[in-house]
Amino acid sequence: MIDSHCHLDSAEFDEDRDAVIERAIAAGIEHMMAIGTGNGPPDLEAGLRLADQHPAFYATVGIHPHDAAKAKTEDFKRLADLLAHPRALAVGEIGLDYHYDFSPREAQKSVFIQQMEIAAGAKKPIVIHTREAWDDTLALIEQHWTPHAIGGIMHCFSGGPDEARRALDLGFYLSFGGIVTFPKALAVQEAATSTPRDRILIETDAPYLAPVPKRGKRNEPALMVHTARKLAELRGEPYDDLCRTTTENFGRLLLN
Ligand SMILES: [Zn+2]
Ligand SMILES: [Zn+2]
Repeated sequence: MIDSHCHLDSAEFDEDRDAVIERAIAAGIEHMMAIGTGNGPPDLEAGLRLADQHPAFYATVGIHPHDAAKAKTEDFKRLADLLAHPRALAVGEIGLDYHYDFSPREAQKSVFIQQMEIAAGAKKPIVIHTREAWDDTLALIEQHWTPHAIGGIMHCFSGGPDEARRALDLGFYLSFGGIVTFPKALAVQEAATSTPRDRILIETDAPYLAPVPKRGKRNEPALMVHTARKLAELRGEPYDDLCRTTTENFGRLLLN
């Protein structure tokens, strides 16, 4: 399997990062996509540092909506340059977060749009973070991204069947994380059940959002097996099929 979204650069892994990577590989997680948002600009290499150190990692480069207010003109130039790295597969995570509003919404929108333009120029998919901002996120994608026909990932999908349908119609893959194992996440589970086989991905978002039965603990890629089991059960698919299709989907979107 491939963990399509994790933050193993996080300080929460400073004590035991090598052991976490070993446990992931032992659990069948052969690759992980290291999200490169780090502590925000000007440091844009958080993901690529891991990819340079360990063959199990692919990486993204991007400015998180939380950090939008920190972004300067030279950061966008640097971001575009870093996409030439052979293991930089996508731009992300980018988008809008109206739950925390750590950056003003106008700054979030502007930084999101600029990064979609950079991704289009590099012909790389985008990884979307959206929270309490579905309408604006989908509207900006429709206007600035869908015409390029490159596609992308809705990371840690947290919507219901309606948001799933709208995102799928815009050409996106839906990536499910630990939330899908939470007993009350019925709308997310319904979305996971109805996502077409060729559009589903799986992730941890480690160190966040650990799946049941480790909910509330630090998350790590090895725990993704719990999420995979739940997804297979919801979809009525054999576990091995779920693992294989998510890996094939990752390859089709990101490795060609
Ligand atoms: Zn996120
Ligand atoms: Zn993330």
